[in-house]
Amino acid sequence: MRVRFWGTRGSIATPGPGTIRFGGNTSCVAVTTNAGACFILDCGTGARALGAELMAHAPKPIAATILLSHTHWDHIQGFPFFTPLFIPGSKITVCGPEGSGGSLREVLAGQMEFTYFPVEIGQLPATIDFRELGEGTHEIGGARVIVQYLHHPAMTLGYRIEADNAAIVYLCDHEPFSDTLWHGKAAPPDIDSIVHEGDRRHARFMAGAGLVIHDAQFTPEEYPAKKNWGHSTYEYAIGVAAAAGVRHLALTHHDPTHDDAFVAEIETRARSYARQQGCDVEICCAYEGLDLAVAPRDLRQPDATAPAPHPGGEAMRSAFILVVDDDPDIRALANQALSQDGHIVIEASSGQEALALIDAHAPDLLLLDLQMPGQGGLEVLKILRSKRATAALPVVVLTAMNDETNTRAGFEGGATDYLTKPFSIPQLAARVRACLARSEAPAAREFEEETGAR
Ligand SMILES: [Zn+2]
Ligand SMILES: [Zn+2]
Repeated sequence: MRVRFWGTRGSIATPGPGTIRFGGNTSCVAVTTNAGACFILDCGTGARALGAELMAHAPKPIAATILLSHTHWDHIQGFPFFTPLFIPGSKITVCGPEGSGGSLREVLAGQMEFTYFPVEIGQLPATIDFRELGEGTHEIGGARVIVQYLHHPAMTLGYRIEADNAAIVYLCDHEPFSDTLWHGKAAPPDIDSIVHEGDRRHARFMAGAGLVIHDAQFTPEEYPAKKNWGHSTYEYAIGVAAAAGVRHLALTHHDPTHDDAFVAEIETRARSYARQQGCDVEICCAYEGLDLAVAPRDLRQPDATAPAPHPGGEAMRSAFILVVDDDPDIRALANQALSQDGHIVIEASSGQEALALIDAHAPDLLLLDLQMPGQGGLEVLKILRSKRATAALPVVVLTAMNDETNTRAGFEGGATDYLTKPFSIPQLAARVRACLARSEAPAAREFEEETGAR
């Protein structure tokens, strides 16, 4: 497989003399398999030049698959300028996460309404197929495309493209699930010593890849002020990539305020950080025009470190959710976030009240505070996990306790996810949707039981 970067900027296109080296166009990466299948990871403003290049080599209809991580502007603004869409006979498949608001087609059509753009989506001459993907494995364009939800204040997908005995993994936009990555002073890092199950899953997803393209928008100094914005640091990207046995790491989604000198310094700092940590991952900051061949490698068979293969499922559009917290402000905020996202929400202010409501109403998901007067969250969780009816009920722990001991205790106690306060409304909505989608794939569970995979 070959990879070429057409856009490496995050948030907004940033042209000018300060960004000549790393580029000012927003996210767009082209992946070509040996058999000639063309995948386009995100459609930021870099997609315009990619479209022109595709037409230069083949000024006739083409077939391509666009894999959108999500529909924030910096990942879709190049779509209306992608020339192959204007060529009759072109076959373009557009894949993306199931939107929480409208369908994928509706969202892309929105930015092409007459108010914003002269050509509406329905007027494009190419044949365009829209595919909303849930987590799982899909056969697309002769490759195995595995998708997994990322941690971002929107439903966002990470992609793993497997073809030609190699794997390329694309992970923009994403931020750590937990402030603490490692359990104690783990060295050398391995996936099991990662504290949060979300970060462990993230590492497993990239296991053994020849190339990982990862968000590293913020420096470690900038990150604390930008927590919950949905982006990573190079330290995090290096940590998970090293644990996953990744060969090559390309850092991207550069911040618009970082000029070439700054990004070059990030690259130097990232390489020296990796050396200090004893990681032998090859690291670069991606730039427009960077072209890489990803060599074949025996991909690991599904085992403890490989992403669990399961068919993609349809996520639930509207769920019945119980929010349990003794703080009325948190309940109101969570209620607002989830109702706005189309769910039906009920509230409980104590563990006892929650257990009674669960017995009476059988909710689809529970949002559970850990520290409450009387019965605490962990006690409630223990009772739920001991009963057949609620043993598999998705429970998102919502807590101010973000330290390693409590995070471990939460997961060991049976939490499906562990989210720390303060949280943002879109972040909570996305985490809940990811949990619901996972719990919704009974076919996946049966598959795992049958094969022993996971
Ligand atoms: Zn972005
Ligand atoms: Zn984004």
